[in-house]
Amino acid sequence: MIIVMAPWATAEHKQNILDQVGKMGLEAHLLEDDRRTIVAVLGEERPMVELPFESWPGVERVLPVLQPFLLASREYRGENSLIKVGPVGEGKDQVVFGGPEVQVIAGPCAVEFEEITLKTAHLVKQAGCKLFRGGAFKPRTSPYSFQGLGAEGLAILRRVREETGLLIVTEVMDVHEVDLVATTADVLQIGTRNMTNFNLLKAMGGVKKPVLLKRGMSSTIKEFLMAAEYILSNGNPNVILCERGIRTFETYTRFNLDINAVPAIKHLSHLPIIVDPSHATGLWRLVEAVTLAGVAAGADGVMVEIHPDPQNALSDGSQALKPEKLPPLLERIKGIAGVLGRTLG
Ligand code: PEP
Ligand code: MN
Repeated sequence: MIIVMAPWATAEHKQNILDQVGKMGLEAHLLEDDRRTIVAVLGEERPMVELPFESWPGVERVLPVLQPFLLASREYRGENSLIKVGPVGEGKDQVVFGGPEVQVIAGPCAVEFEEITLKTAHLVKQAGCKLFRGGAFKPRTSPYSFQGLGAEGLAILRRVREETGLLIVTEVMDVHEVDLVATTADVLQIGTRNMTNFNLLKAMGGVKKPVLLKRGMSSTIKEFLMAAEYILSNGNPNVILCERGIRTFETYTRFNLDINAVPAIKHLSHLPIIVDPSHATGLWRLVEAVTLAGVAAGADGVMVEIHPDPQNALSDGSQALKPEKLPPLLERIKGIAGVLGRTLG
């Protein structure tokens, strides 16, 4: 439920609402900007609708939120959230998701050996990207597949940042590894298989860096936004959503990019949404077209897998673009972004 305070409401009126909500065992979040103050009341909706908030001093109106998510909803925040990535005050601009720029995250599926990872990173940088992806902890379908280099992979990612200045996006799989991954990541990624790992989502609430939350491969848009709600309600407002393809009856492609999800999420939520055409298709030949479709649908960014030697990649080689494919892809993203009045980040 959202309580919209009257423009003339005093600090006491607001505090009174917060106190009363607290007494009822419910949680309240105060959101104030130049134009208005709203109080988001979190908890089960049914008992709340009985409460006479509308007659309390300083209250203009009460809106029951029809969706099960609240902090992630457009009702809660009408404007797009701008999620800033990267350290402040190092002479570099932060990268913003959710604004007019379309951001590109590129890099290998997994961090492999130092030499090849650094080589890939330099090529990603030369192409003009600002964000580098690569998993040190890899959630693999088979226990016999390469599981990632773990802490050693994180050290390689730190070298990437030192040498290139690229910001690092890397996955965290386990609650116990959150602090470790946060030492290196500029953005912590939650993979599709962990979208409903609620303890991990809660732990993301305590992290001071943005989280890239990937959609569960069999999750609905509502469940996806509920997962984001877990992170937001536990204290971290910096969530970037990622549509990475869902399961359908189709077997030609690995998954299926749910293009509908992009405008649907833009309508339902203020959070930025990007697309991952690499995992969605599983086939490098399709990656460019699906990337551009995602941008045309309104995505705030894309994440693409790049590998200098896909045939020998330790994971996901069949969907990796060779680095030379990146500059022309960026040109085309720029073209589509331009049609929409946006720019390439
Ligand atoms: C990844 O991006 O590294 C990854 C494993 O993707 P997903 O979780 O979407 O399968
Ligand atoms: Mn991958």
